[in-house]
Amino acid sequence: MAQRIGWLHDELLLAADLVSRNHWSAVRANNPAAEELSQLLRQGTLHPGKVLPDDFRSPWSIQRKTFDLATSDPSYQGKATRGALRDAGVLAAFRRDVNGMQAAAAEVRRLLLENLALPQDWSTDVDNLSFDEGGVVEYLGRRRERSSRLREAKISDALKSRGSLECEICQFDFSAFYGSRGDRYIEVHHRTPLHASGSTHSSLKELVLLCANCHRMCHRGNWITPDELGAMIREARGA
Ligand SMILES: [Zn+2]
Ligand SMILES: [Zn+2]
Repeated sequence: MAQRIGWLHDELLLAADLVSRNHWSAVRANNPAAEELSQLLRQGTLHPGKVLPDDFRSPWSIQRKTFDLATSDPSYQGKATRGALRDAGVLAAFRRDVNGMQAAAAEVRRLLLENLALPQDWSTDVDNLSFDEGGVVEYLGRRRERSSRLREAKISDALKSRGSLECEICQFDFSAFYGSRGDRYIEVHHRTPLHASGSTHSSLKELVLLCANCHRMCHRGNWITPDELGAMIREARGA
């Protein structure tokens, strides 16, 4: 007997995308948009290795979810359904930045249409992120940044040309601060997010060395570039 499978970040994102395009209201099961989303999600790409129930993400379940999402809207006057609290986050993110969130949904859709193969534990990696970040796009972006071939090439390059590994934004140097424990430690960040560059190969010029704090700040919420983060730091310091 297949068990009920909870909605993941990306599935909610796509359902909320439909709501945002439907005058912020629920999408009926017989609406072509609900049928199309149902077909996409029923491929099970986001739930690798799971046995999917027969009614998994059926058009009816899309209708129910979009109803939950629409009624989580603060402007909705009726009684909130159960699940509405959990869904309020994603709809609020759409309300704050409808263009950005619709673009994020389009990227998830594009990835799902590519038939990508995810490892079974992929979602635990992004589970605890907020609704304006994370999901499969963030996962693939981080996986790309952790690719050891790219990391090693960038790190050797920096050591050869500068003799040290410093954060390119705040100049933090792990080995200077932590001693041998921090030797050769630095994080590698892509200037161009995956959704802008596609999944093609990247060159070393695409990569930036960042400390863990600056790296997190670049990824938090909508991605910002290292240059933008640098400008924000200077502004926050009143420089
Ligand atoms: Zn830094
Ligand atoms: Zn990064």
